[in-house]
Amino acid sequence: MKALVLERYNELIYKDVEEPSIEPGEVLVRVKACGICGSDVHGMDGSTGRRQPPLIMGHEAAGEIVATGSAVTQWEKGDRVTFDSTVYPLNDWYTLQGKYNLSDNREVMGVSANEFRRHGAFAEYVAVPAHILYKIPEGVSYEEAAMVEPVAVALHAIRIGKPQLAGSCVVVGAGMIGIFLVKLLSKAGLSNLIVVDINSKKREQALRCGAHLAFDPGDEHMISSMMKVTNSRGADISFEAVGITATVNIAIDSLRKGGKAVLLGNLTPTIDFPLQKVVTRELTILGSCAIKGEYEAVLNLLSKKDIHVRDQISEIAPLSDGAYWFGRLRQNNNGLNKVILVP
Ligand SMILES: [Zn+2]
Repeated sequence: MKALVLERYNELIYKDVEEPSIEPGEVLVRVKACGICGSDVHGMDGSTGRRQPPLIMGHEAAGEIVATGSAVTQWEKGDRVTFDSTVYPLNDWYTLQGKYNLSDNREVMGVSANEFRRHGAFAEYVAVPAHILYKIPEGVSYEEAAMVEPVAVALHAIRIGKPQLAGSCVVVGAGMIGIFLVKLLSKAGLSNLIVVDINSKKREQALRCGAHLAFDPGDEHMISSMMKVTNSRGADISFEAVGITATVNIAIDSLRKGGKAVLLGNLTPTIDFPLQKVVTRELTILGSCAIKGEYEAVLNLLSKKDIHVRDQISEIAPLSDGAYWFGRLRQNNNGLNKVILVP
């Protein structure tokens, strides 16, 4: 089969590779769409240590089942499916507590780290454990289904933050995840939905997607303006979708006393942390990792047209042109949102 292989750091080659074989509990999926994730673009230079070559990347995918392993009973050939990016063991302590996203020995599709290597979906076929599959509802396209993963990441963070009706939320960073946070939060009946991003185009987009206010962090009046719309208190919850010192500090500065910051960005491993502010204002800091079963809810929203993802797809391109599109995304994307590759 053809696949887009990360042969060496920064070197993607479209070439023939062996078709994956499937374990008894797996299915073989003919890939119909696979989105390029920011973590693939950032990771392919070796900086994250989680895209160690040789590797077929790709974890935001959808396709059709063409073969099922001997132990698979609930799926059949021809089923249209998407799948979780996390491959988790079913007998793990965390999985049994309902927290499979935190399970020990979890693997991620299209990722290779020191402990594991799991080929992903930038290929004609991918082997997928049956227990991470989700059926794509009628009326939802493969391209839309390939967008479920980033929406589900946003929904997971919102479920951790638990926004209240008529409350106020701040989203720091209006990249793909930030925009989906805004789209989902715009359904929560908030009094204030505020976005912070350095890029004016992203701020405009966030406003079109349902944010009430958008600020440039370079604006010295940003925090005072936020105070003005929140009765001089600050927001109830902030969502941080970048992961550097400056943006985490904005997420904390924008909160009222007793507020909550949900951190999902993790661009840098460590940051300068405003300890005294967090302690003396009794703030709650919450981490949000990946997805914990939110796929089904997102597929439902898509099927009911309650959320739109099409506007975030900039290009649908053949997998053979993958190296070119990765290159475009690495040059800091100039307005490019999601690029979906089709084998
Ligand atoms: Zn991703």
